[in-house]
Amino acid sequence: MFETALQREVEALTQQLLASAGAYFRQDPGQVVVKFDLTGKAAGMALFPHRATPVIRYNALLLTENRVDFLKRTVPHEVAHIVARRLFGRRIKPHGPEWRQVMQLFGAEASRCHNYDVSRSTRRRLQRFAYRCDCRNHELSSIRHNRVLQGQTYLCVNCKQPLVQSCE
Ligand SMILES: [Zn+2]
Ligand SMILES: [Zn+2]
Repeated sequence: MFETALQREVEALTQQLLASAGAYFRQDPGQVVVKFDLTGKAAGMALFPHRATPVIRYNALLLTENRVDFLKRTVPHEVAHIVARRLFGRRIKPHGPEWRQVMQLFGAEASRCHNYDVSRSTRRRLQRFAYRCDCRNHELSSIRHNRVLQGQTYLCVNCKQPLVQSCE
């Protein structure tokens, strides 16, 4: 598939972060396959197929719409998953101390959640933000999302747990 200049930049940054982690930890970080085929609310996703090269899938639309934050946050976030898994094994928690350690090395904020508007990537007309509780996914309007940023809590009517922003 044809790659844009921005996608080539993301690909290069991915490989660069991977190499710098390998140098820092003095261990071969392995290879990663980069794709731009992710759609929906997630900005990126790290996959570990059995006996195959790990894959990072990036969301091409969210990349175009959030260029700066994507390079600063989503790319290191996903590469840190690859590195942490390679170095510390499959039993670690996805966003646990090993992953945070790699994020620290990358100088990236170790947050699970992005703040991107997912309205176009989910084909909604209104701006929506991805949230979740203990039982399912939710979408909040920008009004409610802004209230959450100001400290308001919304509870899931089903499981009664607070809604937190979704991740990746
Ligand atoms: Zn719930
Ligand atoms: Zn993650």
